[in-house]
Amino acid sequence: MTDTYTRLVSKGPGRDVAKKLGLPQPAALRRYEPRQPLPAGPVLVIGASAGADDLAGELLDWDVEVRRHAVAKERVGAIVLVLDDLQSPADLEQPVLTAGPALRELAPNGRVVTISRAPDGGRPAAAAARQGVDGLLRSVAKELWAGATGNGIVLTEGVSATAPSVLGALRFFLSGRSAFVDGQFLRVGSPSGSLPAVPDAPLTGKVAVVTGAARGIGASIARTLHRDGATVVAVDIPAAGDHLAEVANGIRGTALQLDVTREDAGQRIIDHAVSRHGRLDIMVHNAGITRDKLLVNMDHGRWSSVIGVNLEAQLRINEALLASGHFRSAPRIVSVASTSGIAGNRGQTNYAASKAGVIGMVRATAPLLAEYGGSINAVAPGFIETEMTARMPFAPREIARRLNSLQQGGRPEDVAEAIAFLASDAAGGISGQVLRVCGQNLVGA
Ligand code: NAD
Repeated sequence: MTDTYTRLVSKGPGRDVAKKLGLPQPAALRRYEPRQPLPAGPVLVIGASAGADDLAGELLDWDVEVRRHAVAKERVGAIVLVLDDLQSPADLEQPVLTAGPALRELAPNGRVVTISRAPDGGRPAAAAARQGVDGLLRSVAKELWAGATGNGIVLTEGVSATAPSVLGALRFFLSGRSAFVDGQFLRVGSPSGSLPAVPDAPLTGKVAVVTGAARGIGASIARTLHRDGATVVAVDIPAAGDHLAEVANGIRGTALQLDVTREDAGQRIIDHAVSRHGRLDIMVHNAGITRDKLLVNMDHGRWSSVIGVNLEAQLRINEALLASGHFRSAPRIVSVASTSGIAGNRGQTNYAASKAGVIGMVRATAPLLAEYGGSINAVAPGFIETEMTARMPFAPREIARRLNSLQQGGRPEDVAEAIAFLASDAAGGISGQVLRVCGQNLVGA
């Protein structure tokens, strides 16, 4: 899918005209490639806590240059603001005002990452300061330029700044894997999880199922999980069989033609994965449909088909997985929701209800998977360049595509990268969460 405007204003006379008229000039995002350095330059770690010292030590082990103080006129690839010991609002000022001028030296596609504690249950002054990080980070993200992003990691009770999933999330946010994730927080709820022996192949030995894998985001998820080391079962409806076979063959996986709304879909998935690959570790619910209509014109067919594919199928398949003895070894489920399910969208009562429902399902299923050391999370894409969004009328498409901090649509691989991270053991301490991949939508949620 093409974004002609971005191409026109990226060079030559188009760039000059856009600059003169103050029009959006989206930056080319630095996306992940194997063996790519984490950020494009040294990492400045700001913060005086023991957690900040420990974290700086860990970063040294990742082969990145670490600075504990800004060096005049030195470009930095990332600024990590460790705010894990805030006791009152006054504690915010010193680290935040140290980070401010350092932003001038942030490289294009640079990263700002905050690490702070959840406000839950703290004294009012501590809770106020911790919650303050939320507004701070989301605003910084809106002030960054040239493809740079700002995201945060929130530590809960008993989770240290160097817990495996804090480091996993930090790696994700620093890398090109999170190119279209902006202004978001990941909450680490437990010290479980483990970092991969080979960072470029975190899913080695895992068997993953991806629904809706014949095209669009699903095909990209299948390819990304394969690139990260997983064996992939690609699922889609029989009518998409040719494309499905192409995707599966291209990644040396297997194809399973299956309508996910079938009563026995869960069992068919388990039987296929176990008989062909001996196990099942990761379930990605991506299959989804839209049948847009204003509620005033909504009918049974549009309502029930969207709820059926997008939500009820996921619930039924999860039930079968949870009942199966084959999904008990640190199982991971990742569901594709949508920012429409968070902010709502005109003409999408059915779709938004289904996607908000996915978020509710994820939160309620997290404790059930925790029994097996597993996790379940959702990824909520914003505007992604796919066949689904290419069908939108020009004006709403152009508005939806530009109105985010990065001024462009995301690509299917941006969603796939977030899913691959949440499906990995490095994210094992993150569960029941929703990660938006939306370039920080400026309207709605
Ligand atoms: P798409 O229409 O290009 O692909 C969806 C795939 O799901 C198709 O291959 C389709 O055949 C398959 N599918 C549909 N019904 C199925 C069923 N009953 N059983 C098995 N497979 C079925 O869509 P996409 O843009 O790639 O979207 C993928 C997911 O991302 C969906 O859940 C969608 O709601 C979500 N999403 C997309 C965007 C976006 O901007 N494209 C934004 C937010 C969320």
